[in-house]
Amino acid sequence: MTATSIAKPPVMAAAVQVAALLDQAEEARLRGDYRAGSELARQAAKLAGVCGDAAGEAAALRSMANQLIRLGEQEAAVTACREAVAVLETLRDDAGICEVLTVQAMPLNGLGMHEEALEALARGREIAQRLGDRDLLYWVHNRTGVVHGSMGNREQSTDYLMRALSMAEGMDVEARFCILNNLGDNAVYQVPRQRANGDADGARETLRNALGYVDEALRLAREARHPFRESICLDNYGMLRALDYDFEAADRMIEDSRAIAAIHGYRSLESAALQHQAHVRLMRGECAKAIEGLLEALDRAVEAGETPMAMEIHRELSEAYEQVGNFAAALGHYKAYHLLERTAHNDVAAARARMAVHQFELDNARLEAELARVRSAELEVATLSWQRQATEDSLTGLPNRRFAELRLPEMVASGGPLCVAIADVDLFKGVNDRFGHFVGDEVLRQIAAVLRDNVRDLDLVARLGGEEFLIGLDGVDFEDARARCELLRAQVAAYPWEGLQPGLSVTISLGLAIVRAEEDLPAAMILADRHLYEAKRAGRNQVGS
Ligand code: GH3
Ligand code: MG
Ligand code: MG
Repeated sequence: MTATSIAKPPVMAAAVQVAALLDQAEEARLRGDYRAGSELARQAAKLAGVCGDAAGEAAALRSMANQLIRLGEQEAAVTACREAVAVLETLRDDAGICEVLTVQAMPLNGLGMHEEALEALARGREIAQRLGDRDLLYWVHNRTGVVHGSMGNREQSTDYLMRALSMAEGMDVEARFCILNNLGDNAVYQVPRQRANGDADGARETLRNALGYVDEALRLAREARHPFRESICLDNYGMLRALDYDFEAADRMIEDSRAIAAIHGYRSLESAALQHQAHVRLMRGECAKAIEGLLEALDRAVEAGETPMAMEIHRELSEAYEQVGNFAAALGHYKAYHLLERTAHNDVAAARARMAVHQFELDNARLEAELARVRSAELEVATLSWQRQATEDSLTGLPNRRFAELRLPEMVASGGPLCVAIADVDLFKGVNDRFGHFVGDEVLRQIAAVLRDNVRDLDLVARLGGEEFLIGLDGVDFEDARARCELLRAQVAAYPWEGLQPGLSVTISLGLAIVRAEEDLPAAMILADRHLYEAKRAGRNQVGS
């Protein structure tokens, strides 16, 4: 018997045990016993971690996260996802990382941490695109749409959902249902907004499309005999019929949704239906009845701890009371709404702080584990990769702000004068609004490439954040720097943007300043920013100096 086969049995035994625990966790999940299931998965993860079974640990953490989400334990779910990503990184399992990131986006979204959710999804998208994996990309788009919807960016949300819809061909029923229903939900918010903006044609078009989507969604839900999906879809359908002024049909559908929810104990859906019934009454001008319904819905939402829903109901109650001339009650609900909003805000801040600490601990633990594990040559490679992750902007691949803050003082210290320029995309909000965030992101990538390709190797190009870039020009005087900035401006303006999107054109403005000594750096950055502002005021597409 060889040494390796002697060493094998204990490891095998542990792996078998991990697999058995995972099986039990899965069985519990299928029974709907998420409490037991998440606990079993937690044990599996711990055991797998101890015996170095990284694949088992990642699978267990993923199962745990999925079940915690259903228990409403969002913060713990995020933590489990982060740990899973850390383990999958050691395995270099990019597809696995992408899957976990799409899971993680949901609890982050639920916690109100929308930016973090979008960040996770942006990273997932980058992986899915690189791997050319349509299934992964579908879920990333779908979830990105959902997060934008929660943020109130309904147009961007629809943008992503439509992209996902175009990929849902041939995917499973759940995927197709999700996307159609989400599109319907979006339209419920979008149509009134379009009407308020005087865009009657747009509103009609949105409504017509949305009715088509929910109609198919409802058919899919019924074919699959899936009461949860049927209930949630009927509610959306009803709201859309109300927007189409067919109040009888609206009432009927929302009542059916409520009844299904009541039978199956979907409490959150039931309160939503109650609220929406009241909403339809409000649309019909039946204020007294609407108020009655809203008060009942409020009780349930509060009881179930559904803060966002309770907030929305307070707001609607405030409007309803105002309509019937009961201003005291209107004010009371208005105040209650704001109080809840503030509480929710504080909760998000607290969750964010706790998670930052956790991330820090996780990073430290990883670092220590890696230090112990890898040999010195491998260590160097790993350190480089960590440094890259910490100092690289994931969208453009450029160095990020953190890197620039470290690098600029070095550049000043290393000799001759340094010129710093801040470049900002002109009217970029308009690009996003007109062509969608997708195109906006691509524009940022292309600009990054143009800037990088048109400076020297010793210069620095970094993304400061948003649509702002920093250029550090080493050892040049002010006149030379101005000419180099002018070249960058002209190259961006001359770039064939039409090739990316018909009708697209993009320019940048720059603000320039010179730095002679390290201690001048902060003042120079402020000056560059002021020059940028002047360039903007003077008409954009120019260099301020
Ligand atoms: P100005 O010429 O005055 O700079 O106009 P602007 O529209 O560019 O200015 P503003 O700063 O108001 O808008 C910047 C926009 O950039 C708002 C934000 O939605 C968008 N943006 C920031 N980061 C990103 C990103 O990573 N991707 C995309 N697509 N858009 C982004
Ligand atoms: Mg800006
Ligand atoms: Mg701008």
